[in-house]
Amino acid sequence: MSTKFEIFDTTLRDGEQSPGASMNVQEKLQMALQLEKLGVDTIEAGFPIASKQEFEAVQKIAKAVKKCRVAGLARALDEDIKCAAEALKPAEKSTLHTFIASSPIHMEYKLKMSPKQVLERAKEAVKLAKSLIPRVEFSAEDATRSEWDFLVELTKVAIDAGADVINLPDTVGYITPSEIKEMFAYVIEKVQPPENVIFSCHNHNDLGLAVSNALAALEGGARQIECTVNGIGERAGNTSMEELVMVLHTRNDIYPYSCNIVTTEIMPSSNLLSKLTGLKVPYNKPIVGRNAFAHESGIHQHGVIANTKTYEIMTPEMIGNVRSTLVLGKHSGRAGLAKRCEDLGYSLNKEELDKLYEKFMALAERKKEIYDEDIILLIVSLHQEQIETYHLEQVRTAGHDPYTALVKLRKGDEHLMDTAIGDGPVDAACKAIERITGVSGQLEQFDIRATTPGKDAIGEATVVVKFNGKSITGNGSSTDIVEAAVRAYLNAVNKYIAIRDALENH
Ligand SMILES: [Zn+2]
Repeated sequence: MSTKFEIFDTTLRDGEQSPGASMNVQEKLQMALQLEKLGVDTIEAGFPIASKQEFEAVQKIAKAVKKCRVAGLARALDEDIKCAAEALKPAEKSTLHTFIASSPIHMEYKLKMSPKQVLERAKEAVKLAKSLIPRVEFSAEDATRSEWDFLVELTKVAIDAGADVINLPDTVGYITPSEIKEMFAYVIEKVQPPENVIFSCHNHNDLGLAVSNALAALEGGARQIECTVNGIGERAGNTSMEELVMVLHTRNDIYPYSCNIVTTEIMPSSNLLSKLTGLKVPYNKPIVGRNAFAHESGIHQHGVIANTKTYEIMTPEMIGNVRSTLVLGKHSGRAGLAKRCEDLGYSLNKEELDKLYEKFMALAERKKEIYDEDIILLIVSLHQEQIETYHLEQVRTAGHDPYTALVKLRKGDEHLMDTAIGDGPVDAACKAIERITGVSGQLEQFDIRATTPGKDAIGEATVVVKFNGKSITGNGSSTDIVEAAVRAYLNAVNKYIAIRDALENH
């Protein structure tokens, strides 16, 4: 018999704090609806007092999500708590999550409060929260570097004031598995919490121990795990939801715990998140990385063909990673494309679907078999185009040492064209872009990879370009490598222009 525990997803709060991961209100809402499908118990939607947009995002998610609890974060301050409660108002089920630091170093230097003052503030904060929202989670920030007996005292105060969930976070990613198990067991034993109160664990991955620590916390008595999709989060990230869930699936003999996650929604969630944030999943990332189920060595391939269990401890299908070889072609039609997009976790409106279909047909002219990865790339480029200043209309290169390039760009209704010479075709094309846009950058890094098999595969280029001392990443794809590289370069130019203009208008 497996013991049940809850998943508290903080992709939209802690995860969104990852450098470069910010999402707008609409994007957050889209991700929240996917998290609902994934089966998380609680969605931490944001930190309402942080900004108007955060408040709006939490409010919209609270209104739209029906199956999960929606949580909002608040420091242990009256105005934070009132603001979070207001944002959570439309929710059917909500949690107010309030926190205060409990480690000696945080209390002394950050809060400038004595332990006694911290106890008092925690009590007042939980009381106020409880008077506004029926379910309250209390976090002792930096718990893993706090004195255990102080944690016991603080936890008792919070429970007496009405807290339903006690979270003991490893805020700085410092603890080890044996310690965290002991910490939970110790605090729970001393506190003797009432039956309706559960303990929660929130880990950071600075030493790569977040998932191991979450498993150990379950063994120590925690019954809620806080995690994020793809493990995104502050610094090295949080406990990775998919890794935790698949450990429990694969090794339930050792870890007899279970949660409500629908594992076939793991891959769509991962894809959607990386699309919305632009944060790519590393190839070798467990479970959701592109190579997680790729067998390269001949011996392994031979074994897997004979019996997948020879080298596979789980299957791609379990996580919703259905690698259909031939998905779509020229004759698939709009409905087929729309259905495939939906299966991949992308919900597009009619106008977007029209544009996508146009791109899809253009690609189908050049490429016989269209794979999921191709479709994802088309959607990403569609998304890019909506926000970019310059669009590539055509690039033509010729010659040999020196090379010449002719580039045509569009800016709104304006058609712009120029030519340049360079050391190679990509170099020549980038110089032509420079002449048109007036923006000059230095190519620092350039990678290209094929996303799908076959001679007519799509090449996906990634470049890092330095403009005025600032390095910017650009992505672009095409069945032609030079065009992919030029698209990536232009993407970086567009991003630089957006940043430059935003700073100028500030
Ligand atoms: Zn955190």
